[in-house]
Amino acid sequence: MVKRYYCDFCDCSYPYSDEAFKKHRTGHHHIKQRRAHYDKFKNARERLEDEAKKSKCRRFLSGQECSFGDSCVFSHLTQAGTEALQQLALEEERQERKMQIPTAQREGLDLSVDSWLKQRKVPLTEDSDALPGPAPDPVEILAPLNTPLPPALLSLPRLPPSLAPVTPQCYLQVEFAEWG
Ligand SMILES: [Zn+2]
Ligand SMILES: [Zn+2]
Repeated sequence: MVKRYYCDFCDCSYPYSDEAFKKHRTGHHHIKQRRAHYDKFKNARERLEDEAKKSKCRRFLSGQECSFGDSCVFSHLTQAGTEALQQLALEEERQERKMQIPTAQREGLDLSVDSWLKQRKVPLTEDSDALPGPAPDPVEILAPLNTPLPPALLSLPRLPPSLAPVTPQCYLQVEFAEWG
């Protein structure tokens, strides 16, 4: 049985031989299909650059029909189309810059040690060990754990216990197994 070669770009198959493969790969239809495939992944900036390299299709831009359609070697991009694409390019670049910022910063969360301590209401002092008065209750220190739940979890009706924030009471309810 003769092996057939399937071309993803063209969605067709043909009996395989080195010669047939070479012929297919350099064929007009294949090159066009291949380019169309990769063009789908281009961002607005790259599409603008591609269009800028072509000369304008006078026929299309004067309002007439161009029979070459999308595969016309000349640019079909109108003034309004160019502006829309520029707008899109700016938006894409803005999104990309945004993705480079760490999540916490993007969402305006303060992840500094100071803010963490403030949440737990434990004053950061050099000599907190030497403070006069009764030693703080260990449960009191842990009490305001106050771990904020990520917004995505707040919307869940029944949060699995493993995802619920830890409270000091949790520690008090722990049943310690006997070892040894
Ligand atoms: Zn092909
Ligand atoms: Zn054209």
